[in-house]
Amino acid sequence: MIIATGTASGKTLAYLVPALTAILEGGTVLYLTPTKALAADQLRAVQALDVPGVRSACFDGDTPFEERVWIRQHANYVLTNPDMVHRTLLPRHAQWTTFWRRLRMIVVDESHSYRGVFGSHVAQILRRLRRVTAKYGSRPVFMLASATSGDPGLAAGRLIGLETAEVTTDTSPRGATTFALWEPPLTDLRGEGGAPVRRTATAEAADLLADLVASDIRTLAFIRSRRGAETVALTARTKLADLSSTTFTPFTSPGGGHHVPQPTPARDASGYVGPAGPAGPVSTVGPAPTDAGPLSAPPGGHGTPDTGVFSTPGAEPLGAANAGPLSTPPSDTGFHSTPPTDTSPHSRPEPEPHSPTDAGPLSTPPTETGPHSGPDPEPHSPADAGPLSTPPTFTSPHCTPHHDTTIEADAPARAPVPAPAPGVPLARRPDSSPSDDDCLALLPSKVAAYRGGYLAEERRALEKAFRSGALVGLATTNALELGVDITGLDAVLIAGWPGTRASLWQQAGRAGRAGQDALAVLIARDDPLDTYLVHHPEALFGRPVESIVLDPDNPYVLAPHLCAAAAEIPLTEQDLDIFGPAAPGLLEDLVAQGLLRQRSSGWYWTSRDRATDLADIRGGGGRLIQLVEHDTGRLLGTVDESSAHTSVHTGAVYMHQGESFLVEELDLDTDVALLSSEQPDYSTYARDVTEITVLGTIRSHPLGSGTLHFGEVEVTRQVVSYIKRRLQTGELMGDEQLDLPPRTLRTRAVWWTLPSAEVTTLAETGLDLGGAAHAAEHAAIGLLPLFATCDRWDIGGVSTELHPDTGLLTVFVYDGHQGGAGFAERGYARASDWLRATREAIASCECDRGCPSCIQSPKCGNGNDPLDKAGAIRLLDTLLS
Ligand SMILES: [Zn+2]
Ligand SMILES: [Zn+2]
Repeated sequence: MIIATGTASGKTLAYLVPALTAILEGGTVLYLTPTKALAADQLRAVQALDVPGVRSACFDGDTPFEERVWIRQHANYVLTNPDMVHRTLLPRHAQWTTFWRRLRMIVVDESHSYRGVFGSHVAQILRRLRRVTAKYGSRPVFMLASATSGDPGLAAGRLIGLETAEVTTDTSPRGATTFALWEPPLTDLRGEGGAPVRRTATAEAADLLADLVASDIRTLAFIRSRRGAETVALTARTKLADLSSTTFTPFTSPGGGHHVPQPTPARDASGYVGPAGPAGPVSTVGPAPTDAGPLSAPPGGHGTPDTGVFSTPGAEPLGAANAGPLSTPPSDTGFHSTPPTDTSPHSRPEPEPHSPTDAGPLSTPPTETGPHSGPDPEPHSPADAGPLSTPPTFTSPHCTPHHDTTIEADAPARAPVPAPAPGVPLARRPDSSPSDDDCLALLPSKVAAYRGGYLAEERRALEKAFRSGALVGLATTNALELGVDITGLDAVLIAGWPGTRASLWQQAGRAGRAGQDALAVLIARDDPLDTYLVHHPEALFGRPVESIVLDPDNPYVLAPHLCAAAAEIPLTEQDLDIFGPAAPGLLEDLVAQGLLRQRSSGWYWTSRDRATDLADIRGGGGRLIQLVEHDTGRLLGTVDESSAHTSVHTGAVYMHQGESFLVEELDLDTDVALLSSEQPDYSTYARDVTEITVLGTIRSHPLGSGTLHFGEVEVTRQVVSYIKRRLQTGELMGDEQLDLPPRTLRTRAVWWTLPSAEVTTLAETGLDLGGAAHAAEHAAIGLLPLFATCDRWDIGGVSTELHPDTGLLTVFVYDGHQGGAGFAERGYARASDWLRATREAIASCECDRGCPSCIQSPKCGNGNDPLDKAGAIRLLDTLLS
């Protein structure tokens, strides 16, 4: 059974009730989640229920050895992740005999995150799990919980290999979300080839985060990269430190009542040069925001980004009410109509569910339109001592920088970002504040970064501080996207398209739980897909969310799991059904390679090595590179080898816990990168060059005057250099050569060719064929994620005027994973839509000759040369005609 509904719709309860019932009847339950952080959070939720007889425990890489023994013998609700199932639970299944025998249910939480190669691996791990539990006589029920996705039952069926029933109706109450699409302006700075540079999404996010934190608005900023999250937190802290050192004078707002100190973002100092062209909404769906809308910058302020404001159905956009943003009534009644009570997420009475409303033009989850009848939590109040609220460890008093001061700054005051309008109960703190100066001094400490790579204790401490209100702003990678139960958020900033509409709603849904209204801002990055989306809101709001793409039959995925399965329990003919139609053929190969031995009773793993080492389920390179601080010898963390080439090459700037490090040397022989603590004012981007060989064509069909193909390829990639970009502005500072070995992979690609006659015609018009193909390739890579639920960095491309294997002008886009992950195949299936969007993204960018928002690629090994923007549009037109 799969439940696929929005964030905070009650999925946890939906699987916990049957799970705990099964335990009370003497059974055991295995709970799987993609991240340790989420498992820890779910553990707290289960333990808070305090059900007698339920013995729950996390079993992951952080679990001490002594505890592991206890868990195997006594726990009946075990929370773990697919990695642990793969590496520990299944290979040592005999140690878990008691647990398996009584296993009644397997909960697969956040199942939508199992997609692509990782999802395909998890699908095979679940098949192995089914086989092992069957050996112990159990047939557990699978219960999957997923964010909204297309065809969830079908995707779940592919994931677990069994027919799956789906529940998709969401009747949970939800506040309105005001959604802003935010395009940072072009600056005066010049990048590669003289292209204009757009202000970075992280710089905008840092400004917005600082503004929101200064207004005591609990905000999560989702930043795509680990490094970016660190940078945003650091920058926001710096801005808040500047703010707290500024002189304050009393300020009376026009509305008289609600005052918000505004930081002065140092935009002018950071390359921001004011509005680029006429500002205003890109387009607006629903009620138009008023001039006084909180997202409209004041005239003469630091410029108005090209921004649209969208409201979900039933939502009042912030500021659309008669009251301006500063004129909120000072009483609390606009915020919380009932006194705070026990706010444990599991015991809080929630407002009556509304029947699902007509989704209207914006197909977001149903919104709550009634009054806020439920007691909203006062997240920062010490009275908020529900069983799940950890008492604040933060010893400083809670501050309320709302009151009675604002900045008198050089720059004109900026309209407060999301000052609450009536019916928009953004969190408000009790009035027992210490002096405002003290509070302002504390501001910088209210922002932190959070990401998956931190040590367990660091992560727990950050989650705790954010829950308690000691932290007000958190910049995070998607480690927090996955369900960690942080409630009472007011705003979510999403710096850069998160990859899928499902992820977008998942992230936006973090704010406005428990019936609160909320603000969500998608900040466009300087790339073609983001450009396309902020100019085409209908691509976000008017469409169903994506289906999950995974391919468990990928032979590169399946083969190592067959070995692992044989190592667990020798494989027999009867087992083969469970592993799908590709299994018999692959077994022959594995026997031929000497990995498995065939005997009359089945297939055996006879090596002393661990079979599970053959499968690298997170798709990395298997080997881990240790990051060591040169001066102290301190181990900072690890990265996998495949990403080490791009993230910790010699000369790279690497961020950890807000500290920046410079990589002195990456030594691939010893798997060590030596880092030193430094604060360069630039970031680095690795660049690679790629060669591609066609191994075979699987499918082809005509496309306009060209031909589209899908097939097997061999790709050789080499990181050859890196560029430096100034941190706050994205300005290009130069590049450095690197000497790293090439990496080869066999994968699948989609490619199109143009016949020589067509090419000759185009060439006669003076079009730069190489530049046009190259530009089209870059933009097409940028746009494929919209159709194939992948990441720009999951795929790559090659373009050439004349490819030796096709003899024609050819543009390739390939899956960046061994064996392919289904992305190129999606591109083949959706080629017309994909290439049309690619053309649109190029055409709608206001630059003259190409920039990172359209045809330049940050990872181009050829230094984004040659590129022909107009030529790319004409080239694509020949395919779309
Ligand atoms: Zn451009
Ligand atoms: Zn390129």
